[in-house]
Amino acid sequence: MATLETRLVSVVGDKTAKVLDDQLNISTIGDLLRHYPRRYVVRGELSDFESLREGEEATIFAKVESTKVRRIPGRKGVIVETIVTDGRAKLTLTFFNQAWREKDLREGRQGLFAGKVGVFKGKRQLAHPDYLLIPEGDDVDAAIGDFAGKFLPVYPATSKLPSWKIAQCVRLALAALENLVDYVPNEILEQLNYPNLMTALKEVHEPTSAEAADRARERLTFDEALLMQLFLSLRRIELRAATTKHRTPKNDGILAAFDQRLPFELTAGQKQVWNEIAADLSSSHPMYRLLQGDVGSGKTIIALRAMLAVVDSGGQAALLAPTEVLAMQHYQNFKKLLGELAEGGMLGGSSQGTQIGLLTGSLSLAEKKEMHGAIASGNIGIVVGTHALLSEGVEFEDLGLVVVDEQHRFGVEQRDALRSKATQPPHVLVMTATPIPRTVAMTIFGDLDVSTLRELPLGRSPITTHVVPAISKPQHLQRAWQRVVEEVKNGHQVYIVAPRISANDESDLQRFGLTPEELAMARALSDEDEKVAATPMSSVEDLHPQLEAGPLKGLRMAKLHGRLRAEEKEAIMNNFAAGSLDVLVTTTVIEVGVDVPNASMMVIMDADRFGVSQLHQLRGRVGRGTTPGLCLLVTNSAEESDAMARLNAVAATTDGFELSRLDLEQRREGDVLGSAQSGVRSHLRLLRVIRDEALILKAREVADSITQKDPDLSKLPQLRGEIDKLRQEERASYLEKR
Ligand code: ADP
Ligand code: MG
Repeated sequence: MATLETRLVSVVGDKTAKVLDDQLNISTIGDLLRHYPRRYVVRGELSDFESLREGEEATIFAKVESTKVRRIPGRKGVIVETIVTDGRAKLTLTFFNQAWREKDLREGRQGLFAGKVGVFKGKRQLAHPDYLLIPEGDDVDAAIGDFAGKFLPVYPATSKLPSWKIAQCVRLALAALENLVDYVPNEILEQLNYPNLMTALKEVHEPTSAEAADRARERLTFDEALLMQLFLSLRRIELRAATTKHRTPKNDGILAAFDQRLPFELTAGQKQVWNEIAADLSSSHPMYRLLQGDVGSGKTIIALRAMLAVVDSGGQAALLAPTEVLAMQHYQNFKKLLGELAEGGMLGGSSQGTQIGLLTGSLSLAEKKEMHGAIASGNIGIVVGTHALLSEGVEFEDLGLVVVDEQHRFGVEQRDALRSKATQPPHVLVMTATPIPRTVAMTIFGDLDVSTLRELPLGRSPITTHVVPAISKPQHLQRAWQRVVEEVKNGHQVYIVAPRISANDESDLQRFGLTPEELAMARALSDEDEKVAATPMSSVEDLHPQLEAGPLKGLRMAKLHGRLRAEEKEAIMNNFAAGSLDVLVTTTVIEVGVDVPNASMMVIMDADRFGVSQLHQLRGRVGRGTTPGLCLLVTNSAEESDAMARLNAVAATTDGFELSRLDLEQRREGDVLGSAQSGVRSHLRLLRVIRDEALILKAREVADSITQKDPDLSKLPQLRGEIDKLRQEERASYLEKR
């Protein structure tokens, strides 16, 4: 009797099983049944060629007239262009970088094609349509009629596995399954009015009606949310069950001395967040808290206070930063804020003081050794570092607190790696400057409690943002450069940000959250983007000499990017911070955390190439002092384009939460979840963390109610089995990444 674990060889035969495995990494019945149709073609509701209108979803029955492959001018990649006909009218199908489609779409073949109708150079077309070809030699009516029902599933296909072939395999797999046991308890299914697992799998692949397909899909989407939330709920229980040293702040220690030095009062929001953290630190169970707040909302001060509270209790604290530049900034900032308090044990230092260490990959071996020694001996109370902190040689005398900055770049695993360096579980505080909608936080950081800083401290200056359309209003760009000069004359400093390091730097494309294929498609598809493609994207290496010889002549300029050596980067950042440079031409290395209060202006070139949140982060670098900040978003995008709409949205609001939501709605799931995507999260096939908010909240509720009654799932062995599988994969993905 077949189950979801049964290998497909016994169901579809050796040859097909091998192709499924090679092409789609599908090896069991379960894998195959989780390869869901992308859409359904509804038989009998075919559109007439003549009636196709731009922007509409359409399904057509057509015959291939010709297929050509051509290069995309000026860049890597090819376009496959297929002309199909219904006997009277013609339509073009386009595919980007899928040369293999040429073989599939041979002249004379017939099939169903589904997609969104677009218009390109005056001709109607379907870009990347889904299609079902009728196997050669088959009678058309018989072939279509052969499918189980009225709704024909269209699967994500590959060169060797057309959709109809996958549909055939699915049918065999469904037929082989018997008495499938549902891992979701019956009472939950009843409560939510969901079909059982067998019905859901059947209906999602071979729907009897559109409604049945929808309900099946919802149930299967809910499954993903439920397993994820159960996994996280169990992890929360497990983490909090551990005991550790409490780190109650002292009234007369280094924290109190630090507060005396602070030139400002904490805001009401900061005080409230601090109370939450102090309560956690005073408990004998470890803290797991996410501190979120916009750039400049004062998170770092709070984190430093938590670190000092731990030093007060005789322990050590570590701050993990995602880049060397950031680690260095934190280190210098801490030194400045602590002053003599950071010179504990040194002549002239304070008796309440401690020492701060910096540990990054670019230290020499001898320097690293020395730092390792100082950390192990406990002489260093606070250590700031990059991934180097996670390496083997690092041992703490008594690690009491781990602060992780900009967590979205780290996975759960890395947090765990640092935790494992403590004899007792340390308290953990995660800081993120990208405000995250609640359900995303629940999915990425579901095991953490959340504190939020909503307001910026008083005295922070507002940032004004303007969009500069470089093509339609070139005089505005000229004016922008004049403004840079004026800003410098007034004693301020300016960042100029470009999307790439040098002109032929394809690797940077990845940063825009698009695959090269998508980018090529986007460009070929709209006239607007053709114009963009014609204007080369700005790069630091090109821009710097142009500006230096041209509009910014006479200013003290330097360039900064990730390909410089760490010492060079450090020297340049230091010079900029010290005011001996006026203008920094840079990539996004300055994206997070960098704090130069005298910088008052930022010009972002090709701003449309950056994500909404990224732009918001970038502009947070200016207006950090007493001068109002100015940010100019330079773009070649057309007035009416989506890109322009996004830039206008960024210019119109400084509410990080609103922008973050806007950003996430436009991204693909993998990018939303970022590096947290591997392991458990790689199981999300149907679930979309923004779209499925209600479902995730429901799943969280159900998961918590289950674990409250049955914290080790002993009464639900099926569900327990599913969770164990997830745990194994989470562990495996961690080991792989190490
Ligand atoms: P974040 O880490 O959230 O980006 P920081 O903690 O770096 O924010 O604070 C940004 C700036 O605001 C720093 O220069 C900091 O010294 C200052 N700051 C923090 N809290 C206050 C406050 N309560 N009042 C005035 N300035 C503050
Ligand atoms: Mg910061």
